[in-house]
Amino acid sequence: MSRPLLLKNGRIIDPANNIDRIGDLLVTAGKCRAAADSPPPDAMEIDLTGKWLLPGLIDIHVHLREPGEEYKETIASGMAAAAAGGFTAVACMPNTTPPLDSESAISFVREQARLAQGAKVYPVGAVSRGSKGRELADMGEMRRAGAVAFSDDGQPVADSQLMRRALEYASNYNCPIISHAEELSLSRNGAMNEGAFATRLGLRGIPGAAEEIMVYRDLSLAAYTGQRLHLAHISTAESVDLIRRAKAAGCPVTAETTPHYFSLTEEAVGSYDTNAKMNPPLRTAADMEAVKEGLRDGTLDAIVTDHAPHSILEKEVEFARAANGIIGLETSLPLTLCLIREGVIDERRLVELMSINPARIIGVEGGSLSAGRRADITVIDPALNFCYERQNIVSKSKNSPFIGRHFTGKAVMTIVDGEIVYSAA
Ligand SMILES: [Zn+2]
Repeated sequence: MSRPLLLKNGRIIDPANNIDRIGDLLVTAGKCRAAADSPPPDAMEIDLTGKWLLPGLIDIHVHLREPGEEYKETIASGMAAAAAGGFTAVACMPNTTPPLDSESAISFVREQARLAQGAKVYPVGAVSRGSKGRELADMGEMRRAGAVAFSDDGQPVADSQLMRRALEYASNYNCPIISHAEELSLSRNGAMNEGAFATRLGLRGIPGAAEEIMVYRDLSLAAYTGQRLHLAHISTAESVDLIRRAKAAGCPVTAETTPHYFSLTEEAVGSYDTNAKMNPPLRTAADMEAVKEGLRDGTLDAIVTDHAPHSILEKEVEFARAANGIIGLETSLPLTLCLIREGVIDERRLVELMSINPARIIGVEGGSLSAGRRADITVIDPALNFCYERQNIVSKSKNSPFIGRHFTGKAVMTIVDGEIVYSAA
């Protein structure tokens, strides 16, 4: 049993309980305790003057690469990187080798996570067998083994009838389908956002329509079936607008974006930097502004990383041939804190986007510091200046366009079930 913790003098930001005050938080037996409870004599006192105490951050879109590509990331190394970024839980996507499409695969992930230390891991199961897009995987057995959602992420579910059936079946298990919205016939062989900039670089483009057509299809299927849809990594202004209108019409949809879509534009590709290559690609300044507005006005529900570790084998190659994706677990919070300083969101909204809503979307505990809840807590030093440097990256892979960037604010302590799993000191 972990030692009781008395977290003193921090700014407790707990919007679910309408709390934003300086105070103490007591943790015993892995759970948050009421403010009135008196601390046991063996409690470890930690002074958090100047720090923020938040309900643990939850990232519902990460790629952990195990099984199959352990040289990029393992479940254990991903859990450690997540904890170092301030996350108390992550949901991992099933596009491993082999894909997570069975009870035994889901159980394997949970067992590996149980043996390691760091953020909790919630597996996402595949929509289709082998993520091949032909027949539905057995969602029931995966749900019983602990899957929290279903997705063929990495690839779209191209067949509309299969997507419709997936939405219908997943509803039996009270799980959302997470859609990777991409019309492959438009995006195939594309390396970056389509437009003048891609032309100048001589790279094949991916138009925004490749995303928007599938966003529209899936909104249409969610509205028709009445079943829960979650749209992954939204990158364009038109997608944000489609979601805004669908929500206004009562469609049961939630949506996420990533820090790179609100922090970078296609110009980051610059001189063929493969760490600016992802799918969907970085878009225009107008798209970036629309994504920010979506985060501000509630159209977008969650900030996720789409943490996609790759080694130099996949990244230090010709741009068109380089793998898609960047790591994100250790830069997500610092980049989101920039949105607060820009006046796009406030602290309360950050907690909604990174804790409350992610927990709600995948149906797990979290998002509040209520007495009796599991003590999953993120401690942030909002004034800490640091440079994100390659040698300090906890993730096994180092593919980030943010290396060398100076930030203000990061997680300095991560507590999972009352246990300190990361501490900067
Ligand atoms: Zn995806």
